[in-house]
Amino acid sequence: MPEQHYMHFFSLEKRGRAVVRELKVIRSVNVMQLRNQNVEQLASRDFDVLVIGGGINGAVSAAALAAKGANVALIEQRDFAGFTSQESSNLAWGGIKYLETFEFGLVRQLCQSRNRLMRHYPSTVREIRFLTTIPKGFRHHPLVLWLGAWVYWLMGKGFTQTPHYLSAQQLQREEALLNTDLSRGGLEYSDAYLEDNDARFAFQFVRAAMDHGCFAANYVQALDMRRDNGHWRVQARDAVSGHTFAIRARLLINATGPFVDDLNRQSGQRTEHQHVFSKGIHLIVNRLTSNRRVLAFFANDGRLFFAIPMGSRTCIGTTDTRVGTPFVAVTDDDRQFVLDTINQRLRLDTPLTRQDIIAERCGVRPLAVMQEAADNSGDFLKLSRQHMVEADRQQAVLSIFGGKLTDCLNVGDEVCVEVQAMGIRLPRPRQRWYGEADASVKEAFLQQARDIDLDRYTPASASEPLSARLWRRYGAVAMHLVEAIRAEPKQAEIVMGAYMHCELQQAAEREMIVKLEDFLRRRTTLALEMRREDLKQDAGLMDTCTLLFGAEAQSKYDEYFHARDGVTHS
Ligand SMILES: Cc1cc2nc3c(=O)[nH]c(=O)nc-3n(C[C@H](O)[C@H](O)[C@H](O)COP(=O)(O)OP(=O)(O)OC[C@H]3O[C@@H](n4cnc5c(N)ncnc54)[C@H](O)[C@@H]3O)c2cc1C
Repeated sequence: MPEQHYMHFFSLEKRGRAVVRELKVIRSVNVMQLRNQNVEQLASRDFDVLVIGGGINGAVSAAALAAKGANVALIEQRDFAGFTSQESSNLAWGGIKYLETFEFGLVRQLCQSRNRLMRHYPSTVREIRFLTTIPKGFRHHPLVLWLGAWVYWLMGKGFTQTPHYLSAQQLQREEALLNTDLSRGGLEYSDAYLEDNDARFAFQFVRAAMDHGCFAANYVQALDMRRDNGHWRVQARDAVSGHTFAIRARLLINATGPFVDDLNRQSGQRTEHQHVFSKGIHLIVNRLTSNRRVLAFFANDGRLFFAIPMGSRTCIGTTDTRVGTPFVAVTDDDRQFVLDTINQRLRLDTPLTRQDIIAERCGVRPLAVMQEAADNSGDFLKLSRQHMVEADRQQAVLSIFGGKLTDCLNVGDEVCVEVQAMGIRLPRPRQRWYGEADASVKEAFLQQARDIDLDRYTPASASEPLSARLWRRYGAVAMHLVEAIRAEPKQAEIVMGAYMHCELQQAAEREMIVKLEDFLRRRTTLALEMRREDLKQDAGLMDTCTLLFGAEAQSKYDEYFHARDGVTHS
């Protein structure tokens, strides 16, 4: 960091902490207000639809239905996107690898879903180039892969840059870090990447649903479901207060991801599909290269393996192992497999070891199979990643099986069609329910940002101007932030990471942050970018807690560090 910038940054940080202390008392007023209000409404209203599960599939279901005028509730037993939807590779991709299993329909559908996301979320879902190394002795001739890349491009209707074949020498020139001794050449092609992270992407649908009148609450678990006189009565438990209460709805959407089968068993629901699970892990290390491309390889078992840029870090993975439970953890073997794979494929000055791991991600892909095929699903790696929205019209239940984050807009659309077919009226059936605000709103925001020269507050370490980051994270609501800074420039002072005072204040009001982990791991990626010891030492963390939790700052801080130390509070 140049010295002048460093001094500016440092003084902003220091002054930021002073302001936080001044505003401590005011903050404690609004904390948890949104959640408390919503929980109250969940217990007192009758809903058209109750969505159970706040991962990406539940979030898009709620966002689509609420925008079209349904009276919707959403409950999530953890934090929103607190399970599978926080463990993905952060890619919106057409699934080039499924060409090998001849799933042309799925690839075309995913490519088009990817394009739709890129078109409607231009600042969040961005094209990224993949630089793929083709190993010597690979099961397909490079020409076949090159043709495959063109077929892939055509299936994506030419929406991205064209693919290129590269010789081993060209590949080496493009990325000096690649170990091309093992390579017959390479391919460059495009897919897309979620600029922030998967969990924040899912959360913005929950936020959009709430903006359209949905009552959503995290840390509320569906315990028991009974159908009575054409209505569902769901017994729910608020994990924050410990209270149980009933939610009444005409129709249930079971969007519990890997738990769909459990919930259906509980409610006596029979389905044609069920899930099998595939575990995948990622390791996060310091940035390996300044190349903004995804480096793609074939692991020794032939599966695709990535090194994905993630700000000042690189995310490496993934694995694909059949497991019998959704509750999985990274094992020593997993870590070693990922480290060995990347060390063999890159020429690093010092090979990566476990000490280089900053954070880990681990989850299961819920894969949809027909009930009768579950025990005998043949080659597990060839199971389809296609989602299924299965409707039981008599019981008024929709179950969402399998799928990919990339396909989320299709899931939202399909859910609306099924809900209507089940007799729920959608007063605004043609209302578009997804996408960033119009260009005119963006221009108004940018004009407002230019008026106060907002980008001068961009921290020197940031990779993009502040106005770009604010628009991507908050859309039209970023205008409130600019207004807050105009009224009181101290609001632009950094509290932690890149996050300003006014952002944290807004997060406390609009983002239903119940635990510190919700903020560090899902609303932001701080817990993935910083080692736990560094987070603990960060001078801004306690001020962040104060802004987010008011009087409960210390207990939320303790909960985060102690719970993860294995020490439980009584
Ligand atoms: C390693 C890995 C990499 C992946 N990479 C990609 C990728 O790059 N691109 C892509 O498009 N897809 C990817 N995926 C797939 C994608 O992440 C999943 O398809 C998607 O996140 C599933 O979302 P979901 O909403 O169905 O499930 P979840 O996100 O698991 O959501 C279900 C939610 O239901 C909640 N719940 C369960 N029971 C209850 C209850 N009783 N009451 C209330 N709430 C309940 C859970 O807490 C959970 O949060 C990847 C998956 C993995 C594991």
